[in-house]
Amino acid sequence: MTTLEIEQIPVLKDNFIYLARDSGSGAVAVIDPAEAAPVLERAKALGWRITHILNTHHHPDHTGGNLEIKAATGCKIIGSSYDPERIPGIDIQVKDDDTVEVGQSKAKVFFVPGHTRGHIAYWFADANTLFIGDTIFSIGCGRLFEGTAQQMWDNMVRLRALPPETKIYCAHEYTESNLRFAVTIDPANTALRKREAEVKALRTAGKYSVPFLMGDERAANPFMRADAAELAAAVNMTGRTPVDVFAEIRKRKDTF
Ligand code: ZN
Ligand code: FE
Repeated sequence: MTTLEIEQIPVLKDNFIYLARDSGSGAVAVIDPAEAAPVLERAKALGWRITHILNTHHHPDHTGGNLEIKAATGCKIIGSSYDPERIPGIDIQVKDDDTVEVGQSKAKVFFVPGHTRGHIAYWFADANTLFIGDTIFSIGCGRLFEGTAQQMWDNMVRLRALPPETKIYCAHEYTESNLRFAVTIDPANTALRKREAEVKALRTAGKYSVPFLMGDERAANPFMRADAAELAAAVNMTGRTPVDVFAEIRKRKDTF
């Protein structure tokens, strides 16, 4: 059985770029390269040969390194078929439920619009690994720049049904600020309080709060809990739909 080895590269203010190496074939994917130089340096240091770029969405802090990495390595760029004109250097367009192969490792593509109209995610089921871009953050979700609350809530419902042992690799270290907001609307949630303490310890020790587990996240993340009675009550929307509650939580976070 092949395995997926993952390297986490912090860049810019709070972005993460990932390298994922399929052990069986030696194929290496770069996920959301904001920049090229730190990626090429890390790959060289590891002796890894980059074969693919996987983009979740078009924003420059996810695609800024595309062309330079492609020029340096000859890798193939995989991105959203819902947004090809905005993905620099795209070679292969993928849509919901497609399978992406990085050597022997396979990822299923999820179309998760909301943050942008073309956002996708990559789920390596055998490796319990989800590259989610800016759709889920720990204790948060992406801002709705180009989509609706309905779309983003649908994403939350679909994604939280993945196995609890799924490791979520998001593209930003936003957890502490997300926690500061979340505890104001879900203060009695023990899973949230546990995550708060855990993240405080990690960050104090100079460690990242990413990746994190789906099982923990769906119990603690208010954006995944918009159908819980406590959340509706917290925003004075008892009896309203989960989408309405989700939209209200998202709106409050935007101005927190
Ligand atoms: Zn983005
Ligand atoms: Fe981003």
